Amino acid sequence: MAADLHIHTTISDGSDTPEQVVNRALELGLQYIAITDHDIVDGVNLARIEARGKGIEVLAGVEISCFYGENEIHVLGYFKQPNHPELLAVLDEMRDYRLIRAQKIIDKLSGLGLNIKWERVQELAGEGSLGRPHIADALVEKGFIPNRETAFKKYIGRGCSAYVPRKKISPVDAIKLISRAGGVPVLAHPGTGECGYILPELIEHGLKGLEVWHPHHSPIQRQYYLKQCQEKGLIPTGGSDYHGAKHHSCNCLGSVTAPMESVRRIKELLK
Ligand code: AMP
Ligand code: FE
Ligand code: FE
Ligand code: ZN
Repeated sequence: MAADLHIHTTISDGSDTPEQVVNRALELGLQYIAITDHDIVDGVNLARIEARGKGIEVLAGVEISCFYGENEIHVLGYFKQPNHPELLAVLDEMRDYRLIRAQKIIDKLSGLGLNIKWERVQELAGEGSLGRPHIADALVEKGFIPNRETAFKKYIGRGCSAYVPRKKISPVDAIKLISRAGGVPVLAHPGTGECGYILPELIEHGLKGLEVWHPHHSPIQRQYYLKQCQEKGLIPTGGSDYHGAKHHSCNCLGSVTAPMESVRRIKELLK
């Protein structure tokens, strides 16, 4: 039994719909998946409807993009039902700011002679959470760059001339928000950023797990974070961070999973 607990869909910056994710997961023999789109939970119900009666369970999730000073930190939240009014209101606010931020990025790009249309970026993003990958897609479409990755490297990645940060929510606030919404907060891919030094503070404010198994973690990092979980009583979680085949590194669905024991422990804490 395997569980992929970190998956993006077209509702944020993934390229498979929630329904396609469910059916691909079934083909791969996964019994358990979590939909964890960036700053939005709208994909969860679509996936749950598709999964009905098919022998696969969908855990509700979200990945909240946070900043600790200048460090970007992602916090995953897992829920029974992600319908808590405060959670939804904060996510709405974060997505509203993503729109303002995208317009700022487009203005900066225009200043560099790279003209893309706001309407086109909105079309590429669809109804969900608009992100830099959609801006990258518009640049690719116009022939300014060959792929998403080049957009990040040359223009919209951190430190580049058209970079604009997202709304700044702290990881502690995200953890508290998820907890108030009855959810389980987990630190996403801790090995990809500088966050070891704030772990005690995050635990103090209710962090319940660490994403141990992630495609960007080396075997040594996986071992290290698993040990941290054992020492600190945290739940080790994991997933592929799948974004669909269009993403820079495929992070293939089901390629990284968590043991069912992790799912059992998460479910035990869900209110
Ligand atoms: P945003 O949420 O708008 O800040 O965009 C961040 C998203 O862009 C991440 O969740 C990844 O899916 C994607 N991303 C980050 N770095 C890169 C990169 N170097 N190449 C392609 N996509 C990236
Ligand atoms: Fe993403
Ligand atoms: Fe992330
Ligand atoms: Zn992710």
